[in-house]
Amino acid sequence: MTVGKKVLVVEDESTLVETLEYSLTRQGYDVCTATDGLTALEVARQEHPDLIVLDIMLPRLDGFEVCRILRREMNVPILMLTARTDEIDKVVGLEVGADDYLTKPFSMRELLARVKALLRRVRLDREELVEEVPAERLTFRDLTIDLGRREVLREGKPLYLKPQEYELLVFLARNRNIVLSRDLILERVWGWDFGGGSRTVDVHVRWLREKIEPDPAHPTRIVTVRGIGYRFEG
Ligand code: CA
Repeated sequence: MTVGKKVLVVEDESTLVETLEYSLTRQGYDVCTATDGLTALEVARQEHPDLIVLDIMLPRLDGFEVCRILRREMNVPILMLTARTDEIDKVVGLEVGADDYLTKPFSMRELLARVKALLRRVRLDREELVEEVPAERLTFRDLTIDLGRREVLREGKPLYLKPQEYELLVFLARNRNIVLSRDLILERVWGWDFGGGSRTVDVHVRWLREKIEPDPAHPTRIVTVRGIGYRFEG
């Protein structure tokens, strides 16, 4: 899992740099190093590391500045090293925005555990993103809702829906096969402060049926659940 992951170590104490480089390399990481803040920026821009271990007290440019600058340029997890506990609030604060920190002195085992955890967190984030992509489209037989483009296709041809019709359709389709009360639909689609009554829902359902039902007089897609509301069959 660590194979091929690149870690940039930024630290000016040469013995600590050596120890870190040795331990990380042994775990299978590719390691690059920098011993001052400006060089750290250059190396980060060139090497695109998967993670940065960043000391605060550095020559030329301190770790806070390095972190701030890199945050704006790239999305890389940053583990900061601090010698002072009174710096911790600043380290994890919004202004600097490190992902994690370690207080010196720390054990190498602790550092490796943090590095591993941070990389795993990033990987999980990315996996979640990948899963979201198919959800950009909802498909039901001849009907396709393209959420990214806010477009609804029926048998491949775009349908013209008013904004509220579209919102209603998306809400029903996302909650397919669930009975939804008129009040709930009203609240979620029109908002809790909307003045209109549940009749609004009925009117929009009727309009939607005209556009998406094969036979609007006998709806099979948006089904009426008597006394409650509607259910989208999907
Ligand atoms: Ca230092």
